[in-house]
Amino acid sequence: MYDYRDISAQRAEEVRKTLAEKPVRKIKLPKVLAVIDQAGCTGCEACIQVCPVDCIELVPGPLYPDMGKMVEVDLDRCIGCKACAKMCPWDTIEMVDSAKSYDIANDWTLRSVIKPQAENNAIWGADNPDA
Ligand code: SF4
Ligand code: SF4
Repeated sequence: MYDYRDISAQRAEEVRKTLAEKPVRKIKLPKVLAVIDQAGCTGCEACIQVCPVDCIELVPGPLYPDMGKMVEVDLDRCIGCKACAKMCPWDTIEMVDSAKSYDIANDWTLRSVIKPQAENNAIWGADNPDA
């Protein structure tokens, strides 16, 4: 039987490759940055549509790429415009103090294509036996 996890992992790798081609934020660090509480994210992609700098990445589902998908924000590129937080129908995007945003993101991130090695989101990482 075909193992769809391979497709999920490939999809995650494709997202990761596109990151290298996207410009990083050139202005000074915003006061707030957007962090997704992935526990409440349905993967509806509404936030992706409104982000002016294309810094919200789709994280494929672990077993099937289009089931259980969610999103995450690349904090290095977020400009803190709040458009995504206003758009999210599930109210699961918080604008947080930029100084604390990376720690909060680490706590709230369940799966990541941006930081696959992060402690709480190793599902795509080399240490994960299911990856
Ligand atoms: S705050 Fe603005 S720049 Fe940051 S992720 Fe949301 S829409 Fe994108
Ligand atoms: S709009 Fe909200 S629920 Fe939909 S993908 Fe974005 S963070 Fe997830």
